[in-house]
Amino acid sequence: LNRSLAEFGTTIFAEMSALALRTGSINLGQGFPDTDGPEEVREAAVRALRDGRGNQYPPGPGVPELRTAVAAHQQRLYGLTYDPDTEVLVTAGATEAIAASLLALLEPGDEVVALEPYYDSYAACIAMAGARRVPVTLRPAEGRFRLDLDELRAAVTDRTRLLLINTPHNPTGTVLTREELAAVAELAVERDLLVVTDEVYEHLVFDGAEHLPLATFPGMRERTVTIGSAGKTYSFTGWKVGWVTAAPGLVTAVRSAKQFLTYVASGPFQYAVAEALALPGSYFADFRADMQAKRDLLASGLRDAGFEVFTSAGTYFITTDIRPLGESDGFAFCRALPERAGVVAIPNAVFYDHRDAGAPFVRFAFCKRTEVLEEAVQRLKTLA
Ligand code: PMP
Ligand code: GLN
Repeated sequence: LNRSLAEFGTTIFAEMSALALRTGSINLGQGFPDTDGPEEVREAAVRALRDGRGNQYPPGPGVPELRTAVAAHQQRLYGLTYDPDTEVLVTAGATEAIAASLLALLEPGDEVVALEPYYDSYAACIAMAGARRVPVTLRPAEGRFRLDLDELRAAVTDRTRLLLINTPHNPTGTVLTREELAAVAELAVERDLLVVTDEVYEHLVFDGAEHLPLATFPGMRERTVTIGSAGKTYSFTGWKVGWVTAAPGLVTAVRSAKQFLTYVASGPFQYAVAEALALPGSYFADFRADMQAKRDLLASGLRDAGFEVFTSAGTYFITTDIRPLGESDGFAFCRALPERAGVVAIPNAVFYDHRDAGAPFVRFAFCKRTEVLEEAVQRLKTLA
């Protein structure tokens, strides 16, 4: 195994989903919905397959229908104008978009400032690019994980090439505030940094809040690579359709790496996602309301079971603190949880370089059917 990858072992999601299967536990670990997305979008995929659209290699940048739909979505929701031909790139899920962006934009020895805890592929991709990650730890205060703006500033050095941002944030469920995002933007402009921003949970923001794309802040459009994905928004995580929107030079760079990763992917699904992106606003509102109800159910169940529960303002995750249960090691807790309660969760420490800072936090996914969440809550009550 290549030395840059050796430290990463097996992704926690595979490990924990295997544990759930082996023990017959309810899997609130890996974030994937247990019901598929809209029937009409599935039908669109069937039609594409049947009509022979996308069954052979689609165009390198993605099918024009999807690129146009992505550009229209960014325009309609955020007032961001992107040229579908030069400023949109379709990828094999957000995962490939992250990998291709980092491989394309980083030189060996560059530093990447990333929010910690971070989604696990970030660290691996930064390492594969030969760059160095510099984590800025989000810390809980008054019920939510926050970005300390002084720590962020202090993390930037002459070697910093890019800021890697994620909002809504996996695993904490934090949504960066307008002030936090404005500070990120100011810093990027002041230090002339590129920004890669993972916004795959853009449609999963709760309590009436609004998703604020980093690219909408002053000076950001030209330096920001924005990553989106159909997996989370339409509950088709297996389709692996993602995209990048950015200025032409950045898209060309990302595409240079992407062409040698998958070249292209998900032909017929690209057509289906193009239709999905044009669903009426009511689809997104209903989806959000449904997920918010699930969040509330799980959050109150976790509280009843004795966890400290942090506000999940977005994503499909709730981060908890296990210390009120008399526990302090999330790894040990998650390894024992299937046996103790028949539930699988993720220890947030895997998303930290400063493992101690993440030790007492455990993540639960709520993108599951109501009856599954109710059963999980019943089981977790036995911990109290
Ligand atoms: N970024 C974040 C923050 C995620 O949580 C995930 C997956 N759940 C991804 C990227 C990967 O998305 P995809 O499945 O589209 O590759
Ligand atoms: N993003 C999902 C999560 O955080 C998992 C995706 C994966 O398994 N790579 O749970």
